[in-house]
Amino acid sequence: MNRVADISSVVAGLLQVVEQQQQASATLTPELLNSLHLIHGQSLTNALDLIDRRKVVKLVSSSGRWVYQVTGSSGTPYICLPHSIFCQCPAFKFSVLKRRDSVICKHVLAACISIAMGGVEEKSVSDEHMKAILSHLY
Ligand SMILES: [Zn+2]
Repeated sequence: MNRVADISSVVAGLLQVVEQQQQASATLTPELLNSLHLIHGQSLTNALDLIDRRKVVKLVSSSGRWVYQVTGSSGTPYICLPHSIFCQCPAFKFSVLKRRDSVICKHVLAACISIAMGGVEEKSVSDEHMKAILSHLY
């Protein structure tokens, strides 16, 4: 297994623990937050801030297609596909893909933690809107 696969499995494992702790006690222990911080550093703080400000939304089309939209700190909405760690933001291209100094960007991290904690707001969109969103992903 290569380094990226090792890190991805650690991240996935931690998110599974987030989900288990949320279901058991509706809270995250300091130990789990420390583990998440060890991997994600400042991105964790930024992601938790986005979650606190309810910036993570699941857009669901009338035909059942869905994507996550996370509005960044600058107010720019980014489409995220958490299961493939894709995000439209510049940090994904430069920090995740090019420099590889981050495993995932803060938007995907915010979406993943929100999903694990079961607290993502859903917003209905038309199929035409979803088609426009998907046609502009790159
Ligand atoms: Zn991002």
